[in-house]
Amino acid sequence: MEATKAKAETGRTISSKSIKAFGTPAADTPLGQLNVQRRKPTTHDVEIEILYCGVCHSDLHTARNEWHGTIYPCVPGHEIVGKITSVGNAVSKFKVGDVGAVGCLVDSCRHCQYCSEGLEQYCEAGQVQTYNSLDPYLGTATYGGYSESIVVHEDFVLRVPENLDLAATAPLLCAGITTYSPLKHWKVGPDKKVGVVGLGGLGHMGVKLAKAMGAEVIVFTTSPSKFNDAKRLGADDVVLSSDQEQMARYTGKLHFILDAVSAQHDINMYLNLLRVDGSLTLVGAPEHPLPVAPFSLIPMRRSFAGSMIGGLPETQEMLDFCGKHNIVSDIEMIDIKQINEAYDRLLKGDVKYRFVIDMASLKK
Ligand code: NAP
Ligand code: ZN
Ligand code: ZN
Repeated sequence: MEATKAKAETGRTISSKSIKAFGTPAADTPLGQLNVQRRKPTTHDVEIEILYCGVCHSDLHTARNEWHGTIYPCVPGHEIVGKITSVGNAVSKFKVGDVGAVGCLVDSCRHCQYCSEGLEQYCEAGQVQTYNSLDPYLGTATYGGYSESIVVHEDFVLRVPENLDLAATAPLLCAGITTYSPLKHWKVGPDKKVGVVGLGGLGHMGVKLAKAMGAEVIVFTTSPSKFNDAKRLGADDVVLSSDQEQMARYTGKLHFILDAVSAQHDINMYLNLLRVDGSLTLVGAPEHPLPVAPFSLIPMRRSFAGSMIGGLPETQEMLDFCGKHNIVSDIEMIDIKQINEAYDRLLKGDVKYRFVIDMASLKK
C-alpha cells in the first residue's frame, strides 16, 4: 500500500494509503475498479472494513452527472455497514471488532444552528457527504462505500441494533432515514392516511416505516407486477397510477404523500389526492423541474415540500426504531462486478427492493 501525505484544512499533515474501490472516471463510462486514497485514522477516526454497501438511485444520478457537479473519479455508495478494524487514540464510542455503519454524511461544521440541533444534513457551512464532496483532510473528493474500507470521525458512525441482519440493514442508512425523517416531521401515525409514490428502494422503506408508525398506507405504483409485494410489505391498498378510476378513489383523501420517484412524473395528479392542509413531500430527485399547477395547491391549502436524508441523532433513532420493530430492507445481493447491470435495472424500476453489494467481491 502506497502511503502519501497531505495537509488537512487544519494545517495538520495527514497520511493516507491507496485502497481498492469501484467507480467511474466520467459520466458516460461504466463503473470499474480503481484505486483511491484514504487517510489513515486520526485521533477521533474509526477505520471500517466495508462488508455491505447498498445501491441508491442517487449513486446512479451522481455517477452519470444527472445533477451536475460530479467530481471525477466518482466512487459512489452511502449505505455502508462494516467491521471496525482500527480506531484513533481518542475514540470512545467504538472499539476494534465492533460493527459500524455510515450513511450519507461523514462530517459537517459542528457549530452552526442546524448542526447543534442535530440537523447536520442542512449544515449552513455545507455538510461533507460520503461521496462527491470536498474531503477536508486530503483535498480530493470524498469517496463512498463501493470500496474496501472507509475512515470516518466517530461522531458520524452509527450503531446497528444486534438483532438486525447486517446486509439488509445497509439500505437503512439512506433509504431508511430519508423516508423516516419526513414521516416523523409531518407527524405520520395512527388515524393518518399516507400515500407512498414509487415502490423502489426508498418507497418500500417508506411503506414499512409508515405502517410501523401506525398509519394507513396506500402505495401508488406504475408497475402492476408490484401489487402483491406492496401488500406483503404492509400496504393497506395499492393503486396503479396510470388508471384514473383507481386514482379517483383517493381524491382529497390523504393527509400526507411521500413521493420517492426517481424520474419525471406529473406531480399534480398526486397533489389532488391531498385533504385540506395535506402535504406532499418530495424525496425523489429527478433531473428536471416538476411543474406545479397553482390550483393543485390553492383550493385545499395544500403544501408541496422536500426533505433531505436525516441528521445523525435521527439516523440513530431510526436504526433503533428498526431494531425494535424488526424492520430491514428487502434486498437482492450482488457482486460488485454486477453494478452496471444493477444500474440498468434501476432505470427500469426492476429492483426488489434494494441491491446490496457484497463487498467481499471486490477482493476477488
Ligand atoms: P429506485 O429504487 O430506483 O426507485 C424509484 C421508483 O420510482 C421505481 O421503483 C418506480 O416505482 C418509480 N419510477 C421510476 N421511473 C418512473 C417513472 N418514469 N414514472 C413514475 N414512476 C417511476 O430509487 P431510490 O433509490 O428509491 O431513489 C428514489 C429517488 O430518491 C431518486 O431520485 C434518488 O436520487 C432520491 N433520493 C433522495 C434522497 C433525499 O435525501 N431526498 C435520498 C436518497 C435518494 P414503481 O415501479 O412503483 O412506479
Ligand atoms: Zn441515497
Ligand atoms: Zn453546520
